[in-house]
Amino acid sequence: MEKIIYVDHSATTYVKKEVLEEMLPYFTEKYGNASSPYKIGGISKNAIENARKKVAKAINAHSEEIYFTAGGSEADNLIIRGIAMANRNKGNHIITSKIEHLAVLNTCKALERQGFEVTYLDVDENGFVTASQIRDAIKDTTILVSIMLANNEIGTIQDIQEISKVTKFKGIYLHTDAVQAIGSVPVDVEALGIDALSMSAHKFYGPKGIGAAYIRKGVKFDSHITGGHQEKNKRAGTENVPGIVGMAKAIEIATTNIEEYSEKLIELREYTINRILEEIPNIKINGDRNKRLPGNVNISFKGIEGESLLLMLDMKNIEASSGSACTSGSLDPSHVLLAIGLKHEVAHGSLRISFGDCNTMEDAIYIVDCLKEIVQRLREISPLNSNNM
Ligand SMILES: *Cc1c(COP(=O)(O)O)cnc(C)c1O
Repeated sequence: MEKIIYVDHSATTYVKKEVLEEMLPYFTEKYGNASSPYKIGGISKNAIENARKKVAKAINAHSEEIYFTAGGSEADNLIIRGIAMANRNKGNHIITSKIEHLAVLNTCKALERQGFEVTYLDVDENGFVTASQIRDAIKDTTILVSIMLANNEIGTIQDIQEISKVTKFKGIYLHTDAVQAIGSVPVDVEALGIDALSMSAHKFYGPKGIGAAYIRKGVKFDSHITGGHQEKNKRAGTENVPGIVGMAKAIEIATTNIEEYSEKLIELREYTINRILEEIPNIKINGDRNKRLPGNVNISFKGIEGESLLLMLDMKNIEASSGSACTSGSLDPSHVLLAIGLKHEVAHGSLRISFGDCNTMEDAIYIVDCLKEIVQRLREISPLNSNNM
């Protein structure tokens, strides 16, 4: 097979060899149910508790504050629904932003149908929500603020620490979806001042279908996956032991190597952005230039269809994204790009490159060379084509 240049690490990553090796025994000889009283049950129970410690350590939390889930979407659901339902007696108002992942937005929409009131805050042209916007939106009935740490499409990293000063002062819970941030930027729940956080292993070289919710001790929340007594009665179901063990190994590797990893990605990102800015006319770089995920490049090309661009890149063995994986395949432009003020037709002509572990400077050079050629060709044949952005 020809070499594939995969630059869609925000959609998912491969599983690292060391991670897989750590997981394998838990499929075969160490297959016990952690709730069982005999030896192999105890082996699974120990593995889960060791993993919980590792995950907690990686984000400066206590292990009792980590609840394993079946991924990032489920962690978002557990936290938002769980806090909303358990704190109903205090109020029914939730504050979030227009650029959240659909796991947050659609959970909030579902809660609106159950009698909750949700404020979806606007963001500025780089995707930022400010602490003063939060302060102004808070009402007597506000129980929860949910603002993502790093955006999966445009890469913008929010100032959660500033926002937490407001929520702490008002005594309101603060959740952050840190699915994109974990493994790419340092995450410390104490420094951030948050009450809850979501993560997902397959975004940091762990397996798919496993994630975790950090929920600070003392936060009132209900379970919505009811059944057995696993995860301290907060998330029923026999634990995914191989997944849990794999996630712990992956987060350990990711947080140990974070500086080296992010430096490498920033170099690839900056090379790519700078060359595109210099060599391709009528484009716009989306997201903040500095406070962004190390590996994220998001560009809108005037007069181009994102889907045609992706197909032509695929023919050059470059695998990228036109938005988030959940929205691609539909014709609606990305809600994130619309929220930062792009017109529909401009949002349609957007490309997300997310660099990762396996990428090199040669990849970045090849990508820009191909992009230049493809964009020029598409513009020559495009009926959409006109002048400036
Ligand atoms: C990928 C992603 C999710 C969903 O995680 P899954 O494990 O795929 O359910 C949630 N939020 C953000 C920001 C993501 O990038």
